[in-house]
Amino acid sequence: MNPRRNNLIGDPQARIKQTIDSAAAVEVKFAVEPMRYYRSGIEMIRQATIYRVEGDLEAAFHLYLKFLTIFIDKIDKHPQYSTINKGPVKSEIKKLLRKTLPIVEYLKLQLLEKYKSDAKKYLEEKERLETVPEKPVEEKISVQLPDDSEKDNKGLRDIIVPTKIIKEFLTLAYVNTVSNKETCGILAGRLQMNRLTITHLLIPKQSGSSDSCSTQSEEEIFEYQDQHDLITLGWIHTHPTQTAFLSSVDLHTHCAYQLMMSEAIAIVCAPKYEEIGYFTLTEHGLNFISRCRESGFHPHPNEKSLYTHAQHCKFESTADVKVIDLRAK
Ligand SMILES: [Zn+2]
Ligand SMILES: [Zn+2]
Repeated sequence: MNPRRNNLIGDPQARIKQTIDSAAAVEVKFAVEPMRYYRSGIEMIRQATIYRVEGDLEAAFHLYLKFLTIFIDKIDKHPQYSTINKGPVKSEIKKLLRKTLPIVEYLKLQLLEKYKSDAKKYLEEKERLETVPEKPVEEKISVQLPDDSEKDNKGLRDIIVPTKIIKEFLTLAYVNTVSNKETCGILAGRLQMNRLTITHLLIPKQSGSSDSCSTQSEEEIFEYQDQHDLITLGWIHTHPTQTAFLSSVDLHTHCAYQLMMSEAIAIVCAPKYEEIGYFTLTEHGLNFISRCRESGFHPHPNEKSLYTHAQHCKFESTADVKVIDLRAK
């Protein structure tokens, strides 16, 4: 039982302040280029809208506030901020900022009403239990009230991975794989009832070598995601002749994904060894890699401690995945 929670549950204003303070603490990492934040901002609003529609007002309020904090207070301090030209993404964010401000005000009022009602229930329950004090009152209340105090730092949301995705990906990568060239794709999907589901595998134009893969015309991917309201959930790539692991370059690539979306995963397919890895950076790895200024292949101390198997992956054998191959377009 978190004693702080009980202090807050009786104090609606303090609960609101806690949510606001937590959103305001969001950091803009200079290791991630500003354009990535702009792309991610659009996806944050996509997720916040879903939370609002589904009635999770607190999660929606928190995400909208994070969005406002990044784009009103923080992104312009990024050393590469000047690289953001006037363009469709920048004007989209401006439009979203204008739309978000009144939504946040309204959500704040709604949440305050909810918190006041929670406080009333809490105080009534406390008073009732004080008449039978054979057990500590706080202990009793802990089972009576919904525990939402850990929502701003709750664990990772589940990410649903359709198992079909591996076969689909290896099939379309086959020609490259036999030529010892890597292939990569983007995992995209949707948020529903606080669960993330991979629904799409997007293959961008790209060029691969035996140990790397670089994408081109990424705007085609963004365009497709915008048209279909998709959220970026990670990436997938092959290791044609090596085992399934994250190289130093992979760690840097994945770091940017995970800083934008904590649940983002990196799937590595090693057909030669029949290995599939579903990886995520550890907290230490995320901190370490976001501060590492090296590029290209380079050693990291104690590389194995930087990433781990993504425990929040849940596999579904019946779920479908739509493959969009933009290479031939
Ligand atoms: Zn790799
Ligand atoms: Zn590094």
